[in-house]
Amino acid sequence: MAVIKGIAASPGYAVGKLFCIEKKRPEPVANPILKKNIEPEQKRFKDAVAVAAQQIRDLAAKLKAELGKDEAAIIESQLLILEDELILDSTLCRIKEELQNAEYLFTKSIAEVVSRFHDLQDSYYKERILDLRDVEERVLRILMGLDHNEVVGPSEDCIVCANELTPSDTAAIGTTNVLGFLLEEGSRTSHVAILSRSMGVPAVVGLGEALTGLSDGDSVAIDGHLGELIVTPDKEIIRKFKLLYHKESALNEKLAHLKDVPAETPDGHRIKMFNNIELPIEVDKALLCGSEGIGLLRTEYIYFQHGSIPSEDEQMEVYSEIVKKMDGRPVVFRTLDVGGDKVQRYLGARKEFNPFLGWRGIRFLLANPALLKSQLRAMFRAAAGGPSKIMFPMITGVDELRKARQICRECCNELAAESIEHDPDVEIGIMVETPSAVAIADLLAAECDFFSIGTNDLIQYSLSMDRLNRRVSYLYQPLHPAVLRFMKSAIDAAHNAGIKVSICGEMASETRFAEVLLGLGFDEISTHAVQLPKVKQVIRWTTMSEAKQLLSDLMSFSTAAEAEAHLDEYLIAKKSVRKNN
Ligand code: PEP
Ligand code: MG
Repeated sequence: MAVIKGIAASPGYAVGKLFCIEKKRPEPVANPILKKNIEPEQKRFKDAVAVAAQQIRDLAAKLKAELGKDEAAIIESQLLILEDELILDSTLCRIKEELQNAEYLFTKSIAEVVSRFHDLQDSYYKERILDLRDVEERVLRILMGLDHNEVVGPSEDCIVCANELTPSDTAAIGTTNVLGFLLEEGSRTSHVAILSRSMGVPAVVGLGEALTGLSDGDSVAIDGHLGELIVTPDKEIIRKFKLLYHKESALNEKLAHLKDVPAETPDGHRIKMFNNIELPIEVDKALLCGSEGIGLLRTEYIYFQHGSIPSEDEQMEVYSEIVKKMDGRPVVFRTLDVGGDKVQRYLGARKEFNPFLGWRGIRFLLANPALLKSQLRAMFRAAAGGPSKIMFPMITGVDELRKARQICRECCNELAAESIEHDPDVEIGIMVETPSAVAIADLLAAECDFFSIGTNDLIQYSLSMDRLNRRVSYLYQPLHPAVLRFMKSAIDAAHNAGIKVSICGEMASETRFAEVLLGLGFDEISTHAVQLPKVKQVIRWTTMSEAKQLLSDLMSFSTAAEAEAHLDEYLIAKKSVRKNN
């Protein structure tokens, strides 16, 4: 039995067998060929290149129709790699001279070009390496008869284990038969972590190389609260984990009575409790937990599940289904937030060297107006079925907001001209998740209808910590003085302008911060479904003056560690007072 420490990414306990997802790159081995087979081997290679070229052309055509010619050009440029003499001719020559199989020699040709590009020390060429790798994998899969690298989920209850999973992998795995997640990479705010919390399954991430020795069927236990993985747990541990699991379920049941009571402090301060969701299937759970609305619909997951760009009508159907199910409760649709860790080639998003500072959120959307328009039109149409709001991600300046609002107006004018039912009076808001948005919060608040603070990114950008990098995950510090000041100043700016402000980052789902959020003055808190009753319970126990005092104490500290220690002491003292009363 071994205990491995990682990052606690989603609370809960699970025991079960491992289901390992290996996203291995194809690795060809050298196989000698006979002289008489030179030509057939060269032909086999040329045929594979032709198939790869056709696949790339098909993809480019699809992108051209959906996103425009600029996006198609990016993928089309990969065709040049296939024609490059350093790759094509060199592989054909090598087959003749080295008498080895095509896949092995093709990899050698690619490796040579990659090493030249590395030597050039130029970011343009470094970026081309990604294209080379992409083309390499495509051709190798054809030569080696391997399927497209699609991830599939377990067919029976298992704990899913992987090096890393992109949001689209997670969407492909789905929610069935998944007892929990274990990842080598990742942090509390990576999307697997977020999705696990939405699903209500435990996740431990950032486990590093400790996962390397594990394989399918190995027995493990996960403690998502402490961030621990126990390999081959003994009978006693299995019994303990099963007990903990049942205890937790019992607590959730105990809090079920809070479903229909308001999140109101004893001194009459009312907070709205919303949920974050990624997919329509989560709506039922949100309602079951007493959600008063959807505070954040991450629409990108609907795209990922679809596997290609859904049409306006297809999107409208999904959005309408959510609005209908919410039955009069508001739904905040966030427009696509791709880029960063959510890279989808079919959307034209690409892996970048500095992805979180790159072509992400509103930047990507404004560069793809056709895509944005189809999404906005679908949202305005769905809004005719019930209260809805539209929110833009990654706003850094007023010009982005103005451009986005202009496109909203164009969509509504077009829909009106086409006599298509829609609601033109949808509130338009923004995610406040960049330091620049905080600095100009007064200017932004004057031109939008609401704010939603995205602490995952706000913490990432204000503390310059990559939210996916486990080496710097210790810097995820919601109580850092910079973060507290940023939140306070954005909330004050919103209130001065007379608009409401909500929180939809992970911090909102952590019960220990609920009083802090109350003290900060949030009007709405959007959590994961399972956390909603727990956060509500804290609000119902805390007066506004207590929360304000706590916040002012926390804001007086110079470091996050001091503030954390104070909060710990405060919560312990409060718990014991409650016990004795
Ligand atoms: C955030 O940044 O806090 C947020 C809610 O958005 P996402 O996690 O999707 O980036
Ligand atoms: Mg964000």
